[in-house]
Order: sequence, then structure tokens, then C-alpha cells
Amino acid sequence: MATATELQADILTEGAEVLGIRLTEAQERQFVRYYAELVRWNERVNLTAITEWEAVQTRHFLDSLSAAQALTTELLQSASFIDVGSGGGFPGIPMTLAFPGMRGTLMDSTAKKTAFLTRACEALELQDILVRTDRAETLAHHDDYREKFDIAFARAVAEVAALAELTLPFVRVGGTVIMHKKADIAAELERGQGAIETLGGSVREVLPVKLAGLQDRALVVLKKLRPTPERYPRRPGMPSKRPIA
Ligand code: SAM
Repeated sequence: MATATELQADILTEGAEVLGIRLTEAQERQFVRYYAELVRWNERVNLTAITEWEAVQTRHFLDSLSAAQALTTELLQSASFIDVGSGGGFPGIPMTLAFPGMRGTLMDSTAKKTAFLTRACEALELQDILVRTDRAETLAHHDDYREKFDIAFARAVAEVAALAELTLPFVRVGGTVIMHKKADIAAELERGQGAIETLGGSVREVLPVKLAGLQDRALVVLKKLRPTPERYPRRPGMPSKRPIA
């Protein structure tokens, strides 16, 4: 098996180009380094079921970077974001590696996962990234986090209705929520409409991911139109247990 330093990132760089992202050799090396940390920690902490280099490039790195399809150049250069339920760092770390001007906060409720995120950010020398261990339902009521971000990302965390409650409170009015989802999203989105409106958002668009190997993926993009009512998010667990109708 090739050592991490010998790995070629062709699938990543070619896919990124299709997304309009030109990765430098230094950035490619950072992705390889990230992969090495991910699979090393994955032996102890359950971060990913996908560990093969080819598959990680497509299903994790490019799937994460597909968010660029929904964002303007200006936002990609300097926006603040929070990655809710970041787990092994998806999509927040790939977005930061590709767009170093973005100011990211990675949050997850599981301390073992945030320990990994902290270590990975150190190894990748991502000094400006913040890592927080907390429930989204709690953190979103803190003044430093409520309605403070240009963008909230969330991938593989919950259904749209619950996820709207876990993400929209973090975003400033005028900001964007990007949910990485399966392409077959119509019924789930329909169930989430009431929650999105109640929380001050609206569906801007659903963007299919146009990349080889990711045709089953889509981005649900929300716009925040009004402040989120103070009572949301409700207490931990409620957004998924009893989604807003
Ligand atoms: N976003 C990553 C990815 O796409 O690989 C991780 C997905 S993992 C299936 C879901 C993650 O969300 C877990 O790490 C879990 O601890 C976290 N999570 C679930 N509910 C959460 C909440 N209410 N607040 C913070 N983190 C949460």
C-alpha cells in the first residue's frame, strides 16, 4: 500500500476543476495529510466508514467541496461559517483547505470527534479554525454564536426539518444554510417546509451535484430572511424527536 506521502490526488484535483476550484500542489498535500490523520484516528474514533483513498477523494472531499456550487466568489474568499455536526470535519475542513480565506467554526456534540478535529487542524496548521464541543441546540443560544455566521453547513446530521432548527439560528439575516443531502430529497424537503419558514428561512434552491460519482447527491440551499424566534432551537433532542410541523 502507498504511504500517505506517495498518494496522488488526481481524482480530487480533476473533480475540483469541474467545480471551478484550482488546487495548488501545497493544497493537494494538505488533503493527503488530512486523509492520513483521518484514517489513523478512525482506528480509535468512529469518523468514517469510507477509508479507501479513491473513495475518500470523491465521497468526502469532493462531496464537501460541492458546496462551492452554491456560493459566490466573494463568500468563498472571506465568509464566516459554522459546520454543524462536523464529525470527521466534513464539509468544513475541505472547504477551509480549498478556500483559506474562509473563517470556520467546526462544532460537534461528541468530544472524541472534536478531539480529532482539534488535532487535525493543528496538523494542517489551520490556525484560524475554531472547534467547539456542544449541542447545536445549546450553542445557538449563546450570544457569540447566534445569528453570527454568513453560512451554516451540515452534512449527514438529521432530516431537513430538524436540521433547519439546528442551523438557521446560527446564521445572520441574509445568510445561507447549505445542507449536503441525497438527490432524492423532495419528500423530506416537503416535510421541512413548515420548519424552515417558522425559523425565518426559505428554500433558495436545490442544486444537483454535477460530478462523476456524486450524481446521487444534492445541496439544499436556504436563505435566511428574518431573525429566528428566540425560543428556537428547542432543548437538546427536540428538533429530531418532534420536528416543527
Ligand atoms: N458531517 C460529518 C460528515 O458528513 O461526515 C459527520 C456526520 S455524522 C453522521 C453526524 C454528526 O453530527 C455526529 O458526529 C454527531 O455527533 C453530530 N451531531 C448530531 N446531532 C448533533 C447536535 N444536535 N449538535 C451537535 N452535533 C450533533
